[in-house]
Amino acid sequence: MAKDYYNILGVSKTSSGEEIKKAFRKLAHEHHPDKQGGNAEKFKEINEAYQTLGNEQKRQQYDQFGQSFSGGGPAGGQGFGGFQDFSRGNPFGQGFSSQGFNFGDFEDLEYVFGGLGDLFGGGRKSGKKSARGRDLEVELDVDFSEAVFGAEKVIDLQKDINCPECRGSGAEPGSKVSNCLHCGGRGRVQRVQQTIFGNMATETICPECQGEGKKIEKKCRHCHGEGISKGSEKIKINIPAGINDEQSLKLSGKGEVASKGTAGDLYLKIHIRPNKKFNRAGDDIRSEAHISIRQAALGDKIEVETVDGLVALRIPEGTQSHTQFRLREKGVPHLRGRGRGDHLVEVIVDIPKHLDRQQKKLIEDLNI
Ligand SMILES: [Zn+2]
Ligand SMILES: [Zn+2]
Repeated sequence: MAKDYYNILGVSKTSSGEEIKKAFRKLAHEHHPDKQGGNAEKFKEINEAYQTLGNEQKRQQYDQFGQSFSGGGPAGGQGFGGFQDFSRGNPFGQGFSSQGFNFGDFEDLEYVFGGLGDLFGGGRKSGKKSARGRDLEVELDVDFSEAVFGAEKVIDLQKDINCPECRGSGAEPGSKVSNCLHCGGRGRVQRVQQTIFGNMATETICPECQGEGKKIEKKCRHCHGEGISKGSEKIKINIPAGINDEQSLKLSGKGEVASKGTAGDLYLKIHIRPNKKFNRAGDDIRSEAHISIRQAALGDKIEVETVDGLVALRIPEGTQSHTQFRLREKGVPHLRGRGRGDHLVEVIVDIPKHLDRQQKKLIEDLNI
């Protein structure tokens, strides 16, 4: 039994190319599988017919070899696969070569049907839709020294997590999950569009399963089939040495989980708790050191507190108040790259506020 392409398109053997095109468009529109009441089988058949009749050369070949040509092809009841096998396995079978059937044409034909095979079942892309969970931003307080030297922290984050009952699948534990019949489990269907270059196939998310490729028999009672629930997740955070106030850390995939999709990202905005002794200026650390008039005038060796502990600092004689001294490489490690900032010490000369009579007399005698 041969398929009658003319009959399928509702045209006659004498119809013009334009008439065939018009008939095809009308029918393709009518039976498009994405439309309500569409029919994929019928649509496939219409396409198949048009692939041949819409091409002058192929139409001629079909007119000439019609019976045997289609007899080995889709009309054999095997669909497109059958035709492909046929064309690959028996390129010169069915007496084509002896009748002058050009092999080049044949390849062309195979290409056309190969393309159609792709349209109706050979999709290669993975079926998952790209639903993505929300990104989250969380503020994180860290101590001054944790920001300088880095730290490991664990936070307990409240957010949408994968449902613990069904582990995010949305299916009641123990219930059956089968492949979506509409898309065959691929999650995507192919749509054929007519362009001036011919029929172009584009992939879209399967409307039946929303791209999951699966049909759930019984929805998880805990999450009503959504696969997500409110919960908390303990997240370990490595705070890098040298991070500064207001900087953010990105933890990929630690945001909220989407219903059967991928998780968003988590952004941690760092807040450094103020420190009584140290101030930060970029990667430099600033502090003050108080010295007496005597130390300022005569010079001395003092100990300065740094993040590395006590460090000796020589105060030269005649040091003025508010003089800054630089302790190299005692600051904050550079977040990117080697080395550290410096520690800057501002010396404050303390002027005594209460002197007894004898002290006052001595200072007067100094005459300075
Ligand atoms: Zn669940
Ligand atoms: Zn589907």
